[in-house]
This record gives sequence, structure tokens and C-alpha cells, in this order.
Amino acid sequence: MDTPQLSSLYQQLILEHYRNPRNKAELKEKTVEIHMANPVCGDEIRLQLRIEGDHIAEAKFVGQGCSISQAAISMMTTLLQGRKLDEADALAKRFTEMMHGDEDASKDKALGDLRALKGVSKFPVRIKCALLGFDALQEALKKDGAGETH
Ligand code: ZN
Repeated sequence: MDTPQLSSLYQQLILEHYRNPRNKAELKEKTVEIHMANPVCGDEIRLQLRIEGDHIAEAKFVGQGCSISQAAISMMTTLLQGRKLDEADALAKRFTEMMHGDEDASKDKALGDLRALKGVSKFPVRIKCALLGFDALQEALKKDGAGETH
């Protein structure tokens, strides 16, 4: 599918992550893995995390799909390395708010390169593409928390 019309600077950043995805590899020492698909677009990812105690020691993914889904998860994994679990959860919520049109969220520097995806929020069918990685992350955090006592 074509990339929606975004500002050219943001579009370049998205294509750069799509062509040179960060952290795209199998993570051997993973403690949790979530498979997530977006059949409407044909996007498919497996998010793999190594969670140690209260933080994400390492985040990697494998997958295929459109530039938006793959760039979003590449950007997301760069932000997750070494991140506390509650911070990761907050990032997922913040990004979801941005994709649903929240202007404050789109100015939040905590989102880093992910802010390049703001323009995608104007294209309802592509929002799911952008959210795929964070949907997987939220599932992973739920799964990890399930067996633990805090
Ligand atoms: Zn897609």
C-alpha cells in the first residue's frame, strides 16, 4: 500500500526506519513473545522482549508489512531498550492518544521519532498499522505481569 501524504521530513524518517529497521532480529533470550497481525493491510509482527525485574532489558522484533507498521515498531523498539515497564506502558498509552488525534501527545518529546507518525492519524485505515507494535507491547506487558507478585 502507498504511504499516506505526510510532510516530507516525516516521510523520510519513516522510510529510513522501514529500509533500515532497528532491532529487527530474533531475540534468543526472550522472556515474552507476542504475535500480532493486521489482516486489513497484511502487516504481521512478532515482538520479543527480555524482561528483567521491572524493566525491559532488550526489545527486538521480526515481521513484514507496510512501511508504517514496520517503521513504527522499529522506532518503538529503540525507545524500549532498558525502559521501566511502567514507562513502556505510559509510552504505549501516549502513542495511542497521538494516533487518535491528541495534539498534546503529538508534542511529547518522550515519543521521539514516533512523532513522525502523527500525520497517519488522519488516515483511519492506517492507524491500525501504526499501532500494531504498541498493541503487541501492551499484550506483552499484561502477560508478563500476570504471573508476578509485586
Ligand atoms: Zn499496514
